[in-house]
Amino acid sequence: MRGAAIINVGSELLMGKTVNTNAAWLAARLTLVGYAVRRILVVPDEEGEIAEAFREAMRRAEVVISTGGLGPTPDDVTNLALCRALGAEPTVNEEALRMVREKYEAAGYALTPERVKMAMMPPGARPLPNPVGTAPGVLYESGGRLVILLPGVPREMEAIFESHVEPLLRARGPPVYIAERVIVVEGVPEADVAPVIRAVMRAHGRVYVKSHPRGSEIAAPLLHIHIHASAGDRQEAESLAGAAAQALARLLREKFGERARIHEPGSAGAGAPAGASR
Ligand code: ATP
Ligand code: MG
Repeated sequence: MRGAAIINVGSELLMGKTVNTNAAWLAARLTLVGYAVRRILVVPDEEGEIAEAFREAMRRAEVVISTGGLGPTPDDVTNLALCRALGAEPTVNEEALRMVREKYEAAGYALTPERVKMAMMPPGARPLPNPVGTAPGVLYESGGRLVILLPGVPREMEAIFESHVEPLLRARGPPVYIAERVIVVEGVPEADVAPVIRAVMRAHGRVYVKSHPRGSEIAAPLLHIHIHASAGDRQEAESLAGAAAQALARLLREKFGERARIHEPGSAGAGAPAGASR
């Protein structure tokens, strides 16, 4: 499976001031497009540390996505750190400069050096338009490896990912199909269901099973168990997910009998092709 790595830049993340929701959002989206996320690295707003994270991530994954540190303030240095990691001279990208200039001039602001900094990137990189904020994203491709820098503000990060990054990742193929099943179990606490889930995951490759508690663990246990399978073709993904769902329901009945009230496996958004646009 193709590998991806996520780098989240921001000292506020390491101080516990900001919850790293960008990591979870990106990891889920990358998984759905067919990437195995191999690392999530959280680093402070320090150029040397960020550059080291880029080097490590690039060693481990063919797609590297960072969030944060693209803004105009002096502690926003992710673009400079990427240049350092690549041994490249930070260069003003004319297209990026035009994007930044248009945003500020439309609001009556001048193009200061801090704002020009948002248009600096390694030579050969290309800016990704930011429909929500001012700092463009950055796309750098070399030797089949893709490095993408996105802003830290979740709304901006998500907008650029959805409009520019996801289509690019899907186009790189190969197509990946995801099938999902949901089983609802009442009456058995999550802690007792956990070993059954582990057994199903051991027995079924390419299947990921996760329980989501929806009730009260002891007084009124209620679990939604999501089964998620990915494969190179739709039928295979469907049959992997279906087989895992049946095995899970059977094992739960065997182990807990009447105590487990299982709502028959249903499908949720099954078979969405991750290799084509949806
Ligand atoms: P800006 O152009 O706004 O300066 P930026 O790319 O420099 O964007 P940051 O300054 O690092 O981004 O972060 C802006 C805000 O986005 C932070 O104050 C924080 O609220 C939020 N943020 C940053 N990183 C994350 C993250 N990993 N998860 C969730 N929120 C984040
Ligand atoms: Mg910042």
